[in-house]
Amino acid sequence: MAGGEDIRLDPWGAIEIKDYNRLFRVFGIRPFIEVARLLRHAGMEPSLHMRRGIIFGHRDFDKVLLAKARGEPVAVLTGFMPSGRFHFGHKLTVDQLIYYQRNGFKIFVALADAEAHIVRRMPREESFRIAVEEYVANMIALGLDPKKTEFYFQTNRDTPYYRLVQLFAGKVTAAEMEAIYGDLSPAKAMAALTQAADILHVQLEEYGGYKHVVVPVGADQDPHLRLARDLADRMHGIIKLERPASTYHKLQPGLDGKKMSSSRPDSTIFLTDPPETAKKKLFKALTGGRATAEEQKRLGGIPETCSVYHMDLYHLIPDDKELDKIYTACRTGELLCGQCKAIAWEKLEKFLEEHQRKLEKAKNIAWSIIETPRF
Ligand code: SF4
Repeated sequence: MAGGEDIRLDPWGAIEIKDYNRLFRVFGIRPFIEVARLLRHAGMEPSLHMRRGIIFGHRDFDKVLLAKARGEPVAVLTGFMPSGRFHFGHKLTVDQLIYYQRNGFKIFVALADAEAHIVRRMPREESFRIAVEEYVANMIALGLDPKKTEFYFQTNRDTPYYRLVQLFAGKVTAAEMEAIYGDLSPAKAMAALTQAADILHVQLEEYGGYKHVVVPVGADQDPHLRLARDLADRMHGIIKLERPASTYHKLQPGLDGKKMSSSRPDSTIFLTDPPETAKKKLFKALTGGRATAEEQKRLGGIPETCSVYHMDLYHLIPDDKELDKIYTACRTGELLCGQCKAIAWEKLEKFLEEHQRKLEKAKNIAWSIIETPRF
């Protein structure tokens, strides 16, 4: 509960966010459009996800852009819990990392093996393999430059990082944690404090001393940002930490219309799905089409509720004019869902073929650069 409205975000849960505007009212997330015009001042063109309103909110991102414009060092931190296969929902975050990297940001990627083990009970060897072969390899194959990226396993970080976790534990009460996250098991409380250390530790001299850090997240991850920002304030006089900035993206709806999740394989397409599997998933995905072709020609479809349109919007059609044509043809009833899926499939098949060709080499690179945990 916050600001009198009953809304709580659960970063580990499956709650769908229906009304993104409430996040502005309730949590004080600011509309992204307010800072978009500073991008060019910082020497950046808006990304596809920014242009299309998929990135809809921020906290303090203006400060990062102004710092970049002054020539100060800027960084991005994100984390992935290695507990399932890499899918198009993950790709959305990685596309943002690639965008920032190409614009001169240092990239840090936390491989949250501690969290996977204590919250999801993942066997450690399995989460190492998933982290390297699913997450790191797919990120490299998508275009993230491993030479300019610092990937790390949480359990491999050293003393200054863990010292932060311990200091943070003394700076927040159980009641405050529950106000942010709801009921918390000790495992989740530990995972939350560790995530705060992930977000803030890159400001320490031992890790590069980056003071302007942005964390791009799905809106459901905001509790971690609120905790990290509060903790940064409370460390004054002990360690100098600045509040991290964040941007918020709308989560891509699953192919079944619910939240996309590795644990429901038909809700998403994995980047390692064989083409015939991916094709089957796409062709049986929930659309915004009408019950009959006659009705669709008369009334038009509803792209806003269509998971195929969201694949086009988020990933498959980078050209805005081409996407506009699909949208209009759907709304006017000129395009039927079967034809529209065939267009999406042609693009998806090409993408998967090229991506999977790069993936074997990327796996070898991933194993060669990642230091797997020592215990
Ligand atoms: S025509 Fe395309 S965009 Fe429109 S509802 Fe059907 S699949 Fe979705």
